Amino acid sequence: MYQTAIPYPFLRVYRNHASSTETGGEPTPKDYTPEDLVAIWEEFLGDQERRHQVSTIADLYPDVRSIYVEFSSIEKFDPDLANYTLTNPARSLGAAEDAIKRMVSHALTNPFLHFRIKGLPRDSRVEVRKLRAKHLGTFVSVEGLVRKATEVRPRVTIAEFECARCGFQISVDQDGMQFQEPLECPKDDGGCGRGSGSTKFRLVTDPSTFVDTQKIEIQEPPEGLRGGAQPERLVGYIEDDIAGKLSPGDRIIINGILKSQQKGAQIKSTLFDISIDVNSVEYEEHEYEEIVITPEDEEMIREFAASPDVLDKVVSSISPTIYGYTQEKEALALQLFGGVSKTLDDGTRIRGDIHIVMIGDPGTAKSQILRYMAMLAPRGIYTSGKASSAAGLTAAAVKDEFGEGRWTLEAGALVIADKGLACIDELDKMSDQDRSSIHESLEQGTISVAKAGITATLQSRCAVLGAANPKYGRFDENRSIAEQIDLPPALLSRFDAIFTMTDRPNSEMDTRIAKHILTVHRRGEVMLHESSEMIPGVDRDQIISDSDVLMPTMERDFLRKYVAFSKRITPIMSDEAMRTIENYYVSIRKLGEGEGASVPITARQLEALIRMSEASARARLMTVVSAEDASRAIGIVQYYLNKVASEGGRMDIDILATGTSRSQREKIYVLKSLVQQLSDERRGVSMDELIQKASSDNISEEQVRSLLKRLSDAGEVYSPQPGYFKLATEERIG
Ligand code: ADP
Ligand code: MG
Repeated sequence: MYQTAIPYPFLRVYRNHASSTETGGEPTPKDYTPEDLVAIWEEFLGDQERRHQVSTIADLYPDVRSIYVEFSSIEKFDPDLANYTLTNPARSLGAAEDAIKRMVSHALTNPFLHFRIKGLPRDSRVEVRKLRAKHLGTFVSVEGLVRKATEVRPRVTIAEFECARCGFQISVDQDGMQFQEPLECPKDDGGCGRGSGSTKFRLVTDPSTFVDTQKIEIQEPPEGLRGGAQPERLVGYIEDDIAGKLSPGDRIIINGILKSQQKGAQIKSTLFDISIDVNSVEYEEHEYEEIVITPEDEEMIREFAASPDVLDKVVSSISPTIYGYTQEKEALALQLFGGVSKTLDDGTRIRGDIHIVMIGDPGTAKSQILRYMAMLAPRGIYTSGKASSAAGLTAAAVKDEFGEGRWTLEAGALVIADKGLACIDELDKMSDQDRSSIHESLEQGTISVAKAGITATLQSRCAVLGAANPKYGRFDENRSIAEQIDLPPALLSRFDAIFTMTDRPNSEMDTRIAKHILTVHRRGEVMLHESSEMIPGVDRDQIISDSDVLMPTMERDFLRKYVAFSKRITPIMSDEAMRTIENYYVSIRKLGEGEGASVPITARQLEALIRMSEASARARLMTVVSAEDASRAIGIVQYYLNKVASEGGRMDIDILATGTSRSQREKIYVLKSLVQQLSDERRGVSMDELIQKASSDNISEEQVRSLLKRLSDAGEVYSPQPGYFKLATEERIG
């Protein structure tokens, strides 16, 4: 079999993609001939601990085929070598691999090995958006979040061919993405010398060498982005033993060599795209690593927590430019801190994330609040329910250009916001696919994808803050609020708090809001004038000091640190807190015990109460949930239930849980039996007759019309002719 001998310099070239150029790698400096480089790595690897790693490879190959070293250990050994490795990684890493090969040559012949470096210095850490031409060919460290990952599939590295004329075997190294075939059957090595024009070369897959490959796309972590900037992305290629270990949503640091590929398949362009050949992957070890809390910060945080009205201060730091909404903001504050997520003895996970949805008229500052919260919360993201990518809010498996023939798993917003806050505007406009998979995310904090051989469970342990418009764009005063909420009841009941925001003219309130908005704008105008020069008719200093209420009580960075710090605390219910919640729950449930009464609340609200009281304790950095924490939670739940789940002053959770109140259900029942009784065989029954008969059952004309509309929408009744109705199915009523 024909095989090129492998002389130094080593031949295993780091993957070069089709028509890629290596601009960064300067010629080897004098002090490192290829032979020198291998020798110096061999010396480095001779250290006791690393020698141990090498012998593990000799023993356990191919199960173990990578050696990992910390960059700092190279630096300690030889700063020049360390520097050389950063600027000429392909050569240096290749030489290190050759050194390992030499050391294990007694046990293995021509093994496929990797030398992987972790912990690159800070100055090699480059943000995706800052990658430039000067980085090409160098060793860089890029932090990001995995957005897409393909299936793992083999790539041929050495292809074996057979000459159809003489049967001679030829092996061709496959370095790039484009498949290379032999140009001739080499005579010098014993072939027949025919060119590709006069013979055929058949690929023999069996003796060919393959390597597992995976393509990923990382994007900048959302928290590093300046107000509303779109995250930039970078493609990465992962090979061999580290392929297939990443999932979309993972937060990682990738160390690797920056490569370029020429754009344009048919017509070659002078423009190049970049990608990274991954050498090693590091995972985040601690939660919220991106928020650094110094001992001084901690002191300030603890001092702040000692003040009796911490939560009020947090509340007044939430969207201070938005007037009112005190209860809503209080719930949002609790959402920032979150409850305690627990795993019970039987393995059940109970979420600690608090989900909130705001349903309101246009122009009630919903979007404004969502954007603010996304900015405030650690790992907050703002997105719209109207999907902008295939993955939408949840996740998707797609087969497109990115995967180059492979299936790609792509993370949606909820996965990207893992351990953070997902602010989803226009929640009511989400796609059907999202609608069906969002429940799992809300309740379990995971998103499962099972499609085309890809089965994956992605983590999406985030709190959700949703905003939606009422069904007909604006709340109609003549209908109950609940029936105008256009979200499936099964979804709605997963939210710990549901707020409705109505915008009706009210001169007292309007005056206050108008004053507030005007003050906000004027303060903004004044702030654009830096010097306090005299402006006739305007007293700059007075305006600034009068509008000081618009300043958040806590600075944003401090609040973020405070929130991140608070997550270290896992509060426990006190006996009093448990009693308070239990008493409230039982007393409200009692209202539902009487004959014909509705079910006022369910265990879901009970859990919401627990989460919110835990969050309240956390906000005060307290390990014990007090009765006051419980009362605060009760106040919020009671506030929203009164607005959305009550009818005629009575609480009825069925309005939320099923979309139909008990009294409505009864009326529907009565109406359906009327339709059945009064229908004649051919035409059914007329609207007028129904209205007249229904009035004796206390159902108003208005209600008959709206319920009939509902029933026809649901396909339960139909009109054989205009103005007449008949039951669609001949079910027996009564
Ligand atoms: P929505 O998303 O609910 O339709 P927006 O967030 O787009 O509403 O709000 C419209 C504008 O009205 C925003 O500029 C917002 O600041 C202002 N606004 C609405 N309500 C208030 C309020 N209560 N206080 C201050 N500004 C408000
Ligand atoms: Mg909006």
